[in-house]
Amino acid sequence: MKKRILLLAGGQSGEHEVSLMSARSVLSALPRDQFDVTPVVISKQGRWLPPTETQRALESGEAATGGDLVLHRVASAEGYDAVFPLLHGPMGEDGTVQGLLTLAGIPFVGSGVLGSAVSMDKVMTKQVLESAGIAQVAWRLAVRREWQQNPQGVRDRAAELGFPLFVKPANLGSSVGISKVGAPDELDGALNLAFGLDRRVILEAMTSHKPREVEVGILGNDAPIASPVGELRFDADFYDYETKYTEGRATMHIPAPLPPEVAERVRAEALRAFLALDCAGLARVDFFYVEETGELLLNEVNTMPGFTTTSMYPKLFEAAGLSYSELVTRLVGLALEER
Ligand code: ADP
Ligand code: MG
Ligand code: MG
Repeated sequence: MKKRILLLAGGQSGEHEVSLMSARSVLSALPRDQFDVTPVVISKQGRWLPPTETQRALESGEAATGGDLVLHRVASAEGYDAVFPLLHGPMGEDGTVQGLLTLAGIPFVGSGVLGSAVSMDKVMTKQVLESAGIAQVAWRLAVRREWQQNPQGVRDRAAELGFPLFVKPANLGSSVGISKVGAPDELDGALNLAFGLDRRVILEAMTSHKPREVEVGILGNDAPIASPVGELRFDADFYDYETKYTEGRATMHIPAPLPPEVAERVRAEALRAFLALDCAGLARVDFFYVEETGELLLNEVNTMPGFTTTSMYPKLFEAAGLSYSELVTRLVGLALEER
């Protein structure tokens, strides 16, 4: 019998449009002889759109308004076998939707509440990975109330890291709200920007040299496998929003031209991080490799990485011999697997 899949896309984060693109790819790749797929687009206001409006949003690739808070009804009453929450960022990749689906009792693709929530939060991720002994840049936490009441305390903590440093909202993605702060007089502006987007902000020491940015895909539940390692190259100071989303600004190199022992370290550390964070199904684990010193520093774990046919995660597994449609089929299988 065909499996009924509910494909959720769009969502309330700044990555709404990216998600619609990924969803179009997944929709055309899930084999029709095995799956009966119903897409539902979630508007930027968090409302679930009915079929015609969902179709319109998918085709135009644009955010739509309208819809309803039907979530629980859509999820449970219609008897789906599994949900593919192809949502990026807050209110989608952060455990909120995963909590709803857990309550509704429906299996879903990807990490559960814990792995999603911890991996979305850059501070919690750093804490968990630190206790797992995984190397990362030095960092500090700052909260909005403190920034309002004792800004000097926050500035002093930043200065402990030295300049340049990075200031980032704890719970966003796509480089939104991230600044590279070259000198103390740029710090306040960066903090105001980040605190405008999140209550919690992470301050991070910059790597000792401009890092190479390498990424690896993880696939599986409690016995996951790692893909070959990929590298992103771009001509910009850092991998900011514009570089990420302007066609032709960045190039993907698979496999990354790395010494074999470095690639092996990337894969092993990524698998350890995936398990330490209680991830499931899939994740893309991103690292900084500082060639000058040989340091390998884990940057972040994305539990629902970009998933168009040309995105890094599917491309990494394609290099391992798994086609896009085999990959999505495997992910649904992992969602249904007993753990
Ligand atoms: P996002 O979750 O929005 O992708 P990241 O933490 O990956 O945010 O940061 C975005 C980019 O900023 C990275 O890909 C890298 O280019 C640069 N960057 C972030 N933190 C550091 C750091 N500590 N040292 C050097 N570069 C950094
Ligand atoms: Mg991210
Ligand atoms: Mg990133």
